[in-house]
Amino acid sequence: MIYKWWSERLSTKLSVLNPISDGIEARLGRSPDAVPRILILGGTGEAAELAAQLASRNDLEFISSFAGRVSCPKYPIGAVRVGGFGGIEGLISYLITESISVVIDATHPFAVGISRNTEVACARLGLPLIALVRPTWQKQKDDLWHEVTTYVDAAEFVNRKKGRVFLSIGRQEVGSFADCNDAWFLIRAIEAPTGKLPQHHEILLQRGPFDLKEELQLLRDYSIDHIVSKNSGGSGTYTKIAAARLLEIPVVMVERPTKHAVPTVETVDEVVTELAELLTRTVQDGKQRKDVR
Ligand code: NAP
Repeated sequence: MIYKWWSERLSTKLSVLNPISDGIEARLGRSPDAVPRILILGGTGEAAELAAQLASRNDLEFISSFAGRVSCPKYPIGAVRVGGFGGIEGLISYLITESISVVIDATHPFAVGISRNTEVACARLGLPLIALVRPTWQKQKDDLWHEVTTYVDAAEFVNRKKGRVFLSIGRQEVGSFADCNDAWFLIRAIEAPTGKLPQHHEILLQRGPFDLKEELQLLRDYSIDHIVSKNSGGSGTYTKIAAARLLEIPVVMVERPTKHAVPTVETVDEVVTELAELLTRTVQDGKQRKDVR
């Protein structure tokens, strides 16, 4: 209900705003001649790829932002900031202080909070926002997927089935499986999960991307009966899904939450194209303002 309200309200707000709002630089107190400053909200391979592409350009500056979820992160090329902004108000304050002219939301498909805050903050400031969400994985002919919408549903399902479960959902949501005492879990994450864990488990600390041959070996070595995965999309962690298909292992697939109320693009190339159009418009707007003076 709250989400519906948020979504409708935001769509209305954004539809009346030209996404390439006139006079952004002026409103943020910057000279029209200033080099545009881009904020990349990161935490994905796409965000790192984008940073690598933008690094060679001298017509813009960019900074990548991370939540700081892992203690040994792999940062992309270029400037980086780490940690939450402090909700919508904190983000607005950051965008103004740092004279950000365009925001690119390249966060993880399951990171909903930051995207909602960003949409509201950009709408309030009239800042252009490019939202990148990689495509979902599509079920193939021989896949044995059981699709669920919540981690709680996934937990109930695997506990009912019992057996040996490969839990590959990162560490933040492992707590949903804490009371699954009838199944055994191989929990894979970059860092060890904290909080209550299922009674029978082993923790495997690994960081993707993962190789298909190794994923096949892992599933065989641990005699896995079920895999629990988020439908994250992308190639880095897809090999477990391909391995499950080859070994005929069922996958409990957690569907994506609704993340955006604004239009999205699916690839880094689309972001770069959209950014180029935005920057051309911004430069033209700046020239027009100069001519008027
Ligand atoms: P979230 O619910 O979107 O974010 C929660 C808060 O973390 C945000 O409100 C924001 O704090 C801060 N935050 C998130 N991303 C940020 C960024 N790029 N820069 C600065 N601050 C950021 O996401 P989450 O709690 O991190 O994760 C939710 C799901 O996404 C989990 O399933 C997780 O496994 C998956 N995921 C997340 C990331 C990631 O980098 N965040 C990476 C891979 C997977 P403030 O409100 O204080 O600004």
